[in-house]
Amino acid sequence: MSSTTQTSPDTFVQREYSPQAKAALARAPALFINNEWVASTHGATIAVEDPSTGREVSRIADASDADVDRAVNAARAAFDDGRWSDLPPNVRENTMRKLADLIEAHAAEFAELEAIDNGKPVGMARMVDVPGAVDHLRYMAGWASKLGGETMQPSTMPRGTVFSYVSREPVGVAAQIVPWNFPLLMATLKISPALAAGCTLILKPAEQTSLTALRLADLVVQAGFPPGVINIITGNGHTAGDRLVKHPGVDKVAFTGSTEVGKIINRNATETLKRVTLELGGKSPVVVMPDVNVADAAAGAAGAIFFNSGQVCIAGSRLFAHRSIFDKVIEGIAGATAFWTPRPSLDPSAHMGPLVSRDQFDRVMGYIEAGKRDGATVAVGGDSPSSNGYYVNPTILVDVKPTMSVVSEEIFGPVVVAQRFDDIDEVAKMANDTCYGLGAGVWTRDVSAMHRLASKIKAGTVWGNCHAVIDPALPFGGFKQSGFGREQARQGIDAYTELKTVIIKL
Ligand code: NAD
Repeated sequence: MSSTTQTSPDTFVQREYSPQAKAALARAPALFINNEWVASTHGATIAVEDPSTGREVSRIADASDADVDRAVNAARAAFDDGRWSDLPPNVRENTMRKLADLIEAHAAEFAELEAIDNGKPVGMARMVDVPGAVDHLRYMAGWASKLGGETMQPSTMPRGTVFSYVSREPVGVAAQIVPWNFPLLMATLKISPALAAGCTLILKPAEQTSLTALRLADLVVQAGFPPGVINIITGNGHTAGDRLVKHPGVDKVAFTGSTEVGKIINRNATETLKRVTLELGGKSPVVVMPDVNVADAAAGAAGAIFFNSGQVCIAGSRLFAHRSIFDKVIEGIAGATAFWTPRPSLDPSAHMGPLVSRDQFDRVMGYIEAGKRDGATVAVGGDSPSSNGYYVNPTILVDVKPTMSVVSEEIFGPVVVAQRFDDIDEVAKMANDTCYGLGAGVWTRDVSAMHRLASKIKAGTVWGNCHAVIDPALPFGGFKQSGFGREQARQGIDAYTELKTVIIKL
């Protein structure tokens, strides 16, 4: 039974926050530098809103240039004196595991904070975000003690005349900038490989959703990380983020966010030739072949776009259903929207919450209006169920054309555009008709069709009969303008290392 009450047809009421959440919201705005909480030098702050109500619930510090410099200097000193990188690898591993255990022990609190800050349903945060964060830390912790090098025989010198080997060293100080859609998960996904490799870091969460990163900082001290290894600063992207990216004391920038900002960051990091990895936007296709069980595929396609209110870089936002089953697939997705009806984030029965902010709400509604103006038909949704908060109903647009902005641009909301196709070559071409290449879903029981499409579609990950399955042991990243480099897996930790070749004449 839902505990959410609707006082009028269109006003959603959020549940009361727990005492732990209230305590987290009552904290004075501060930055976590050198294992200490420090005030910002200029005292500027940013409002924290609960998107389920649109109300301000707290404030966080907006780091100044001097604050950023201080954080980078702390990370620099911690890297340069080897207090982290020179530790026995199993000490790094165990410290990371301790942090993972502590997150797990505070799972309910993290899930609630994420729900209050981001708007995602608390049940989803508990099921996906928090365990995901723990998994990434534990997986990468294992690499700390397994990173090795290689001995290699030079090709031009007689055997026995030289000894040569290639070792891996931590790249140095990492600036890590993350978005608001999976705040804790993105934060741990970023810090895990850096820590395992022996790097020190400055993490900047998104200004809309910094609460769980700040709570994480408390646990950093408890887990036993030396001062300066993990620094967490809150602040705006164009100021604090920009300063971090340009800072000469930073060796590597790892960014997850929009393609637009990714391009700016890539340009800014060039001045000192920082190592850069970019995980950017997407407009992922979901292809439904004619042989599927339509009910299963439609439920899967609905989950692919409506999970996290569509605020997922790999959201299946472009649906391609075979002409022979198109109407049935749309009917199935429309039927599934009842499950995804938006509710306040702390309602335990919620599967979808509001969007993260007023800006995001306006952006998504703006796209829906543009789609309608361009001639698209709203099959389902297209509106908001409440007068408060930032809720958008699950939306299906049909009668769309590739030239429409709803088809070509990333909306980052619960909006899917649906198109028909007749054969594999045609749908592969349609799926690839985008500047993005992050993920793709293919639904079919035909093994040959599955592999042909997996090979033809240009995307960093292709899912078969599922969508958005992520595992720390499998590399993740984008083709084309969805970014470069890979996170997770062996490739994810390699991105935090430099190769050193040593040649010794015997
Ligand atoms: P965004 O690019 O606006 O912001 C992301 C982060 O970058 C925030 O922390 C922000 O403060 C910071 N930032 C903004 N301008 C900056 C600048 N000039 N210099 C340095 N930092 C700056 O993205 P968003 O709106 O928070 O997130 C949504 C986007 O993220 C979507 O495009 C989505 O596809 C993408 N995303 C990608 C992945 C992936 O793994 N590929 C995962 C999640 C989200």
